[in-house]
Amino acid sequence: MADSTTDNTFDIVILGAGSGGYAAALRAAELGMTVALVEKGKLGGTCLHRGCVPTKTMLHVGEVADTAHEGAAVGITMSVEKIDMEGVLSFKDKIVGRLYKGLQGLVKAAKGVELIQGHGRLTGKDTVTVETESGTRELVGKNVILASGSFSKTLPGLELGGRILDSEAALQLAEVPKNPIILGGGVIGVEFASVWKSLGAESVTIVEGLPHLAANEDESLSKALERAFKKRGITFSLGTFFEKAEQTDSGVTVTLVDGTTFEGDYLLVAVGRGPNTKDLGYEEQGIPMDRGFVLADKETLHTGVGNVYAVGDIVPGLQLAHRGFQQGIFVAESIAGLKPAPIVESGIPRVTYCEPELASVGLTEKQAKEKLGEDKVETYEYNLGGNGKSQILNTTGFVKLVREKDGPVVGIHMIGARVSEQVGEAQLIVNWEAYPEDVAALVHAHPTQNEALGEAHLALAGKPLHAHS
Ligand code: FAD
Repeated sequence: MADSTTDNTFDIVILGAGSGGYAAALRAAELGMTVALVEKGKLGGTCLHRGCVPTKTMLHVGEVADTAHEGAAVGITMSVEKIDMEGVLSFKDKIVGRLYKGLQGLVKAAKGVELIQGHGRLTGKDTVTVETESGTRELVGKNVILASGSFSKTLPGLELGGRILDSEAALQLAEVPKNPIILGGGVIGVEFASVWKSLGAESVTIVEGLPHLAANEDESLSKALERAFKKRGITFSLGTFFEKAEQTDSGVTVTLVDGTTFEGDYLLVAVGRGPNTKDLGYEEQGIPMDRGFVLADKETLHTGVGNVYAVGDIVPGLQLAHRGFQQGIFVAESIAGLKPAPIVESGIPRVTYCEPELASVGLTEKQAKEKLGEDKVETYEYNLGGNGKSQILNTTGFVKLVREKDGPVVGIHMIGARVSEQVGEAQLIVNWEAYPEDVAALVHAHPTQNEALGEAHLALAGKPLHAHS
């Protein structure tokens, strides 16, 4: 298929080299296509440099601190003498740097992929014009993939800067805030709340306008997280919207619409991520858009314009790196004529890496009831109190299964330390439409947290072992 006729003609031109863009490039190369991968910043995008990897590194540091604080409970007397933020940041940068190097190596080795450093714009249905250090290049693609990603949003009148941080700035902070306020109780908000509390913040306050933290999750997980955060001393205000924030040299005052105020040394704005599509020529080329998002076809990810596709955070839906990877692979395979199976959005695993972690896949109980009917849904909650490994790890939580009555499991929702590691099996169960009886027949190793998944399915299949039916 590779038939680049000039240096500027490619099988695929990809605008943006984040999770979605580079995954598409690597898969396309495996399939023998030529690719121009355009990136104005760093290969790897948000996830590697400002998102998943640095935040999860910080959360691990938090876990180490928590372990030290809890030492006495297991018979080891120890204390945390100092959180050396310089050391923490350099650990984080080392992990990011190592992965960045690996990714650079992969892209370099991918035959047919040219990484072009510069700011790109869609200037024709098959053309991306890039301003590089050495001049302008017009790249023509038989196919174009838009993968320009997202940015941290703020609210009208709430200007970022100084003590008002977005997640990028929060990841560079050279100190642990003493009493931060976090605007937004979604994934990014609760993860930072967790890290800062673990690293010694005296108080952490989350302000969320919706009725729950992690409001997109099954309500049982949100409520359990709220209980766990309360126990950890993380406070939150739910159900009242933000009105304004004012900062001085030493702190920030946040006022809600009902007049309640909160004082903190920093305010983290974690109100979601907007699509990075402004002034990139998308509208001019007739790409269908809604509030900045690219309305690609849900199944094919084709924009309906020429051979232009879109992947990742600019496409409405879950803004997750692994969704971007899969969409990138899907589009590369579609272009190569392989007819890959469409990606089912509800089958994408979701993890929130705070302490305790939340991990889920498939439908919430509410969604299942809306889809299948109130009386067609059965649920079961297996408490981690019955799981040996969770007891050893001193964590509480549960695994909740949602099944279609007499049918397959359609949703799995988990809370507890390290439950993210269980989402792999959970997503196989939901995406392969397994029945509880199928899973109950499979052996889960003892003692593992994974066993909790097996036990939950045993119970839902009517044969509980370490549980009540
Ligand atoms: P991006 O990764 O944003 O990549 C887009 C790329 O396009 C960027 O590199 C940008 O520089 C480039 N670009 C944009 N415009 C142009 C232009 N005009 N010319 C050239 N290049 C351009 N997801 C998870 O799955 N797990 C997590 O744990 C997780 N944690 C997160 C934590 C935080 C704090 C944040 C902010 C995000 C997190 N995410 C997580 C989300 C994840 O980072 C995104 O879903 C993912 O990066 C989206 O990939 P993308 O390719 O669509 O966009």
